[in-house]
Amino acid sequence: MTNEATPTVVAEVACPLCGHACDDLGVDTAGAALAVVANGCERARQGFARLGVISPAATPRIDGRQASLDEACAEAARILAASAQPVFGGMALDVGGARGAMELADAAGGVIDHMNNEFGWRASRVVQDGGGINTTLAEVKNRADLIVLVGTDAVSAQPRFFERCVWVQETMFDLQPASRRIVYLGAGLDTAPGHSPDGRAPDVFEFDLNRMPEALSLLNALLARQPVAGEAPLGIALARWQELAEALRAAKYSVIVWAAPAFELSQVDLNVSAIVGIVRKLNTTTRCNSLPLAGNDGDLSMGAVHIWQTGFPMRTSYASGTPQFDPVHNGIDRLLATGEADALVWISSLNDRVAPPACGVPTVVIAPPSQQLDAEPRVFIPVATPGMHHSGHFVRTDKVVTLPLRALRASSLPAAGQVAAMIAARLGEVKA
Ligand code: SF4
Repeated sequence: MTNEATPTVVAEVACPLCGHACDDLGVDTAGAALAVVANGCERARQGFARLGVISPAATPRIDGRQASLDEACAEAARILAASAQPVFGGMALDVGGARGAMELADAAGGVIDHMNNEFGWRASRVVQDGGGINTTLAEVKNRADLIVLVGTDAVSAQPRFFERCVWVQETMFDLQPASRRIVYLGAGLDTAPGHSPDGRAPDVFEFDLNRMPEALSLLNALLARQPVAGEAPLGIALARWQELAEALRAAKYSVIVWAAPAFELSQVDLNVSAIVGIVRKLNTTTRCNSLPLAGNDGDLSMGAVHIWQTGFPMRTSYASGTPQFDPVHNGIDRLLATGEADALVWISSLNDRVAPPACGVPTVVIAPPSQQLDAEPRVFIPVATPGMHHSGHFVRTDKVVTLPLRALRASSLPAAGQVAAMIAARLGEVKA
């Protein structure tokens, strides 16, 4: 859809640059770079400008030398054919890219992992073991009267969270958005967006983020009406904690917002498990839901395709011919560090800022021309970006919406999924 007054501006563009997946951007396609001119955030403005640029000079490379796409795919296939245990990382992809990556990893007998998965698998394991109750962005927007942000300010992960879900103009029911109560747990958070439009400040329970397990245990104990020790747990008056527990009990629809990468790695399981406990307790008398902020770098898009196709999450090996899920063994950082992996394929069309690990094994990088690299890989194949150069699909943070991504301008570069499928076909020829 174009705005008639400015025919180069495309309206209602969906953004794949974080899991919030806003679908209201206006993007001007006239210049060399794509310019976000309506809505959007700074991450979107920078990302569309950098990833949406047309790079006619970008060509595949083998050992730093210019090569044709066919030559680069053939070399990548040779590397995979010679590998006993290839690993596939990055995976910041839309659904189509994820399908291609799966096809290639399966053909190569590799292991797939996502750049965010060191945190993600730990959080998922808690829900696998004991279940959990999550909500959607629409429910937050229309129903949440108390929002508790646990160790995250939300906007660091998903910059327009407050703009699109909290301080909105209207809701579907009788909730007045400006009356919502906002509570932050933890120090070092950007609490400015938590101020209501009429200037009401949020409640901030400021303490070292590494003490989050204590804070959540305390809340669990208070909600269970158990005695707790001390007059000022974590340096905050017990009366404030008690009041928060009462507020959660009294709320009609509270939401606990968290983001796994905001937690100290070794505490992810503990914190998520405590959040699940709080939500479970509160739902015996009122409504409370958890909202994990995920989907950044296409992690939910990749995760969804992986589950659809195999029944397992990522960190699954295809080496035996059947999928073998083992999140502890199959972390690709671990496999590379121990020398168990002997080739790396890094596929990422949505995040060009995270560089592939410099790991000393033959490396194939399938990424935008602007991809940051710490070292020249054996093979580099530049690709187009979904939602900018070609259409696609992207799974939002709450997993209930898969947004269509639009092609805003043509690129001569192939999509990541196409490249992966081409290498898989070449690999089949090499093995035959
Ligand atoms: S909040 Fe996320 S999805 Fe929305 S415009 Fe910013 S980067 Fe894009």
